[in-house]
Amino acid sequence: MSCCSVRSNTSSPTAGGRANLLGNAPEDATTCPVMGGVVASTSAAEAAGLYRDHKGARYYFCCAGCGPAFDADPARYVGVA
Ligand SMILES: [Zn+2]
Repeated sequence: MSCCSVRSNTSSPTAGGRANLLGNAPEDATTCPVMGGVVASTSAAEAAGLYRDHKGARYYFCCAGCGPAFDADPARYVGVA
């Protein structure tokens, strides 16, 4: 029959859709879980203390104000939305 011949044209092989939001950002970049801002460099964020280790994962922040906000309610930012 012809019902199952030409239908698989809309599927796109996007493994990690979130990565697309950053375009051509370097691997060193990530997203701030608090404000959603771009963390240009995780290594720079570490050097500046703009990160937290929470439940085995490390989160990086885009600015100094995000650390305390994260501390106040980590689950709000890392929780499965
Ligand atoms: Zn921030």
